[in-house]
Amino acid sequence: MSSFPEAARRELQDKQLRANLRLATDTIRAKRGRVVDEVPDWEELREAGRAIKTATLARLDEHLDRFADAVEAAGGTVHWAADAAEANAAVAGVARRHGVDEVVKMKSLTTDEIHLNDALAAEGIHALETDFAELILQLDGDWPSHILVPAIHRNRREIRDLFARTIAPGLASDDPAALAEASRRYLRARFLAAKVGVSGANFGVAETGQLCVVESEGNGRMCTTLPDVLVTVLGIEKLVPTFADLEVMLQLLPRSSTGERMNPYTSLWAGVTPGDGPQELHVVLLDNGRTNALRDETGRQALHCIRCSACLNVCPVYTRTGGHAYGSVYPGPIGAILTPQLVGIENAASLPFASSLCGACSDVCPVKIPIPELLLHLRAQAPKPAGKHAALTAAGFAFGGARRYRLGQRIARLGRGPLLRLGPLGAWTKTRDLRPAPRRSFRDWWERR
Ligand code: SF4
Repeated sequence: MSSFPEAARRELQDKQLRANLRLATDTIRAKRGRVVDEVPDWEELREAGRAIKTATLARLDEHLDRFADAVEAAGGTVHWAADAAEANAAVAGVARRHGVDEVVKMKSLTTDEIHLNDALAAEGIHALETDFAELILQLDGDWPSHILVPAIHRNRREIRDLFARTIAPGLASDDPAALAEASRRYLRARFLAAKVGVSGANFGVAETGQLCVVESEGNGRMCTTLPDVLVTVLGIEKLVPTFADLEVMLQLLPRSSTGERMNPYTSLWAGVTPGDGPQELHVVLLDNGRTNALRDETGRQALHCIRCSACLNVCPVYTRTGGHAYGSVYPGPIGAILTPQLVGIENAASLPFASSLCGACSDVCPVKIPIPELLLHLRAQAPKPAGKHAALTAAGFAFGGARRYRLGQRIARLGRGPLLRLGPLGAWTKTRDLRPAPRRSFRDWWERR
């Protein structure tokens, strides 16, 4: 994985990407603004969302036990997965037991996080992506760049050309309806033949053992109802304690994500019902770094995230670089605070710096995550490059006494231009303007008068 600055420099060269991003994020942002403005108690709803998440994480162990008991009481099987390998093994085990070489899969960031498709492929099992955007990426060997709109970096013409090369030879139109029809024709037979479906979930309800998915296309509902066997991979932070808590989340999420009053499809299921839907339900509860984040009272607020992507669409960094620069399935501001906690700050040290700290992200966050505060918290933990450490130590020494400060000013005046281009300062000024030290300082001027 390249560091964020290296990857961002590469992505910024792509003018088409920037144009696609701008159009898509401007459109979603405007829609969100309109539907949020029509809710008179939006701020109270945000506060309720924040309070639910804080209370849930404070007693997550109890909620998890309650949820697992409720799933099993309803006829489901719970698998506890400490990491990606255990979660992947649980899903592959179910698929193997049913002797399938293909599973149908709905869009799920959690399964992307654990690289489930690669793990299944290693066992000879193809995970067919059925979300329109995820299918595009799978057909082209590409990967998501936005939480909600994974193929945001692709435009209609590119998609038409890809479909014509792969699933719809001869496709000439790039009309959205024609593109959707091409994918529908390709997917429908596979849905009907599938024995095993794999899903993520937006929420799990601890008191009832229910799982909840919101989506726009209906492919998720097909994945979770048509196959005989369903495996749902759920991050442990996705729980809400009661069914009533869902009411708050289901108002916050669609408005913040797609800019809709409610999602076209909201699916809820619990356990197994004889003769209706999957007759075998497996729920994989995934940790994969979450309990590490939970230990840190400030950092754990990143686990409040309901993956709406509103923070991406307003971020001046994300909207220029796109998601691939973050090198993680969680891009943008939420990725900058979540990924370092999931994979270890030493493995993603540049991400907390991928921000101007303007605060636009926390202004729109439906569960009021103080993202800039978390960015600063993680920056303080990030290993510092040696040059930067030396420069800051020297600055601390110079600023620590009046005589040293004046001496530093004189040296800076002597060095004016060249000093700005040398060593660590040169690296810093490559992408920033630093005004050269003035020929005469205020103190000199004052003393002379
Ligand atoms: S951090 Fe907040 S705004 Fe960003 S994706 Fe998560 S819930 Fe949405």
